Amino acid sequence: MILKAIFRKRWIWRAFAAVLLGLFLSPFVYAQRTRLEPGFNLFSVQQDVELGRNVAQDAEKKIPMLNNTRVDNYLNRLGMKLAGSAPGEKYPYQFKCVNDSNINAFALPGGFLYINRGVIEAADNEAELAGVMGHEIGHVALRHGTNQASKAQLAQAPLAILGSVLGGDSMSAVLAQLGASFAFNSVLLKYSRDAERQADLIGTQILFDTNYNPRYMAEFFEKLDAGERGSDFFSSHPHPENRIDNINLEIARLGSYSRERVNDTGEFRDIKRLLRSLPAAPKPAEVPSGVPSEERKIPSPDAGQKQEPRPPAPSTKFRRFYSEHIKLQYPVNWKVFGHEKEFTVTPEGGILRSADTSAVAYGVSFSLFEIPAGSRSDIDLREATDRMIVSLQGSNPALRLIRDQGGIRVDGKKGLSRIYENESPVGGLEIDWIVTVMHPEGLMVFAFVAPERYFNEYDRVFEKILDSVDFTN
Ligand SMILES: [Zn+2]
Repeated sequence: MILKAIFRKRWIWRAFAAVLLGLFLSPFVYAQRTRLEPGFNLFSVQQDVELGRNVAQDAEKKIPMLNNTRVDNYLNRLGMKLAGSAPGEKYPYQFKCVNDSNINAFALPGGFLYINRGVIEAADNEAELAGVMGHEIGHVALRHGTNQASKAQLAQAPLAILGSVLGGDSMSAVLAQLGASFAFNSVLLKYSRDAERQADLIGTQILFDTNYNPRYMAEFFEKLDAGERGSDFFSSHPHPENRIDNINLEIARLGSYSRERVNDTGEFRDIKRLLRSLPAAPKPAEVPSGVPSEERKIPSPDAGQKQEPRPPAPSTKFRRFYSEHIKLQYPVNWKVFGHEKEFTVTPEGGILRSADTSAVAYGVSFSLFEIPAGSRSDIDLREATDRMIVSLQGSNPALRLIRDQGGIRVDGKKGLSRIYENESPVGGLEIDWIVTVMHPEGLMVFAFVAPERYFNEYDRVFEKILDSVDFTN
């Protein structure tokens, strides 16, 4: 009612319209840029940094770093300028060049950014490089990595794990949960299309605010998409729908600018020249998914007779691992691979991979052997174990019982302990100490494995791991 009364007075309506119009045309259209906030997250900002730093250390052992101070210093100067315009928390960013000519870049939580030399080599000016970096900074600022990890935790994990994350339990437990080691297919780096769209918007805003023409980001992505050159960028950063349109829309929202944009610098051209003068990047090795290069050695048929490299001795310090059904502890210099229901804890070099398989030579594997639902109630532990062994022998024809040790207690539950021998992937024989325990979801199987000649050295560690087992439900 009151509004109506006012608008009846025409001059007031005109003045009101003029104010509205003024708002749209004024330089303060700044206010209309898309505001993005980090999504759901179980990690603290500090944990983003801690997690990122841990994974970064691991990543740098597994990917070829360029280690050129001039290039890294340049990337840091440029990166810090860009990151200064990022919204949200201020992370301790660091930028490093990877000696890989494939066009790709990735960012770990907390601001650890890696840019392949291929990005610099393919960029026609600094603005294009800044576009890729701005996009990666967008992933960090919006905490996409730990957001995804948080959603994954919610989907899979029991409350115990949430408690450990929320309660600020040691990062090693969290890392163990995330699969511990750096992997390109890890939950931290597999972005959704929506995350990509958001990173594009932040990247656009960053370019705009740091006085680059933001259209260069879109142009670089278009160039990659048309690509004659190898690019993995879109496998780790899936194309969002209408990518270029969305970037252009955001540019329109950012409004016009009067200052001349600096899109290239002499420094960028110097760095490009420097890269050309350096030896070519090694041929892109197949990047293993979470498996360190030492573990990818393919044993030749007679490798067993030679002195193979052995894993370092297990640390006497232990760390905790939580999964859906059990908690356990393992030596701090071992790693966890796998997921909730099936995982392997091994020392560095404990897994041997060939073209199509990977085999555990040292360590412990945990799995849940399914028993058909109908027969579950009337099947006892011994019978279930026998069935599991028969199924195991299908893929391990050399698996042979040496000693049935009978009953054993695991966290108070009744279990069976048996010693088998088998062919070791490092050649010769191995000992498999197999412990089974009944669980409502199936038969829990622990397989402790080491080559026969070294088994005694692992016996104590294996017992300690089994002693630490704690069934969570
Ligand atoms: Zn991305």
